[in-house]
Amino acid sequence: MHRPHIVILGAGYGGMMTALKLQKQLHVNEADITLVNKEDYHYQAAWLHENAAGSLHHERTRVPIREIINENKINFVLDKVVSIKPEEKKVKLMEETLSYDILVIALGFESEMLGEPALEKNAFSIGDINSARLIREHLEYNFACYHNETEKNDARLNIVIGGGGATGSEFAGELADRIPQLCKEYDIEKALVRVIMLEAESSILRGFDEKLRHYAMNSLESRGVEIITGATLKECKPNSIVYEKDGSLEEIPTTTKIWAAGVRANSLVEKSGLGTKNGKVEVTKYLNALDCRDVYVVGDCAYVIDQESGEACNSTAQIAVQQASVVAHNVKAILKEKKLKPFEPKIKGMIVSLGGYDGIGVIFNNRKLVGWKAPLVKILIDSCYLLKLGGLNLVMKKGKFKFLNY
Ligand SMILES: Cc1cc2nc3c(=O)[nH]c(=O)nc-3n(C[C@H](O)[C@H](O)[C@H](O)COP(=O)(O)OP(=O)(O)OC[C@H]3O[C@@H](n4cnc5c(N)ncnc54)[C@H](O)[C@@H]3O)c2cc1C
Repeated sequence: MHRPHIVILGAGYGGMMTALKLQKQLHVNEADITLVNKEDYHYQAAWLHENAAGSLHHERTRVPIREIINENKINFVLDKVVSIKPEEKKVKLMEETLSYDILVIALGFESEMLGEPALEKNAFSIGDINSARLIREHLEYNFACYHNETEKNDARLNIVIGGGGATGSEFAGELADRIPQLCKEYDIEKALVRVIMLEAESSILRGFDEKLRHYAMNSLESRGVEIITGATLKECKPNSIVYEKDGSLEEIPTTTKIWAAGVRANSLVEKSGLGTKNGKVEVTKYLNALDCRDVYVVGDCAYVIDQESGEACNSTAQIAVQQASVVAHNVKAILKEKKLKPFEPKIKGMIVSLGGYDGIGVIFNNRKLVGWKAPLVKILIDSCYLLKLGGLNLVMKKGKFKFLNY
């Protein structure tokens, strides 16, 4: 008898959780499950800004996929997806081509560089473990170079962050914690280092109310971050950045530019021919593609409307994990000819950490959080995720317990 082949692309929050749920819910004889990922590890993308700043080592962020899945039930393929061909029910990888009966796309996000080649060439972005590690090493290299050059190059100590959204602000907060350590390590006077955040809007962290935004700006500025609002990026050169504010152009010498002003869904989904909106696959309330019902999409690649608010769901880990449960349920339901379940997002809140011990957030019924409680709640959320992923063992191995030493 033909066993249906379920192929899951991507082992981030959405893909990994879908795989683990299916591993639990389906018997080996009911389906063949293949999980494809371009690295042999799963990582928590929501911790990448800490890896980039160097305040958390990337080993803590990643977990070997084979340590989490049961390889008797899931066939793990370490390979890169090159293209998705829904009309042929095939996925092309670098090394082979897979045929599927049911496909789950969970390929996550990419940095949005606005199609600017100079930005792509001269700026960093926080996209995955490799890019975060590169930023950390680049920062350390520049600090190390500073004393070894006879002519002092201030550009090495100026760090410019493009974008004051959640990622930019979280990274700035981590840097504010990390710079004093780096200065000590590399014998550099702290006053020589500048962390500058450029934001095109009149305030950072749009989406939060004024009081929280104010708190966040004060927290960052009091720890030395310069926030320049109303600043539009004009040019990204190898050793400087040019922005426009109030009609005049300003140039900051810098060897370190981090672009944090936007992400988009993995571009493979737009190239697949599936119907997309804002670069994401348009899905039904059951999370299958509008124009291809055997293709399910979770996480940042899915364009899904929250039936309650009528608005598109945000791209968050929280949403990806919730969608994974629904997709696993629906894939099983299809195989057993049972009723599909609609996706109903339950937004538990949004927290932005501003370094290890400060932050802002809104949780449950609009309850506002500021100060140390915000990162603490975030740590608890992350621990719950680790618990779901790999049990108490994984929480003990990878969880953050820094508050215990505070
Ligand atoms: C710095 C930062 C902080 C964040 N903070 C938060 C937060 O506090 N709370 C929150 O809810 N969300 C947060 N987010 C957003 C969150 O990380 C994303 O929404 C989430 O990762 C989306 O999950 P996903 O499963 O769609 O994709 P991902 O978790 O990005 O996983 C995609 C997977 O696909 C793999 N992959 C990609 N391309 C290929 C390919 N061609 N072939 C094979 N494999 C491939 C990747 O290796 C990865 O394993 C943050 C994001 C960033 C960058």
